[in-house]
Amino acid sequence: MSLDRKIPIEERLNSNAWDVDQRPHIRIIDPDQCRKCDKKPCLYLCPARCYTPGPDGTVLFSHEGCLECGTCRVVCPENNIEWNYPKSGFGVQYRFG
Ligand code: SF4
Ligand code: SF4
Repeated sequence: MSLDRKIPIEERLNSNAWDVDQRPHIRIIDPDQCRKCDKKPCLYLCPARCYTPGPDGTVLFSHEGCLECGTCRVVCPENNIEWNYPKSGFGVQYRFG
């Protein structure tokens, strides 16, 4: 299958496969920092929507669909994300580049 530019991003993401480790490779270090974080860029810039709004200004994180792009680590203004690659053999497998 060639990479046709007209294929929607959602469809391309659906073509990936994940071997999910039960232990998350990414962790929000201090939820209280998220309460103080006004713009919460992780909610908007994670391409896999791994971050969602939680109660009382917190943010919930789900590692299952992570694309290992590193964006959340870069955009977090509080350096509040502990980020590692998944253990060997786990994580996303890109099928079409
Ligand atoms: S960008 Fe960082 S500090 Fe702000 S809500 Fe997201 S994880 Fe929390
Ligand atoms: S590494 Fe990328 S895909 Fe994974 S949680 Fe961070 S922004 Fe989302």
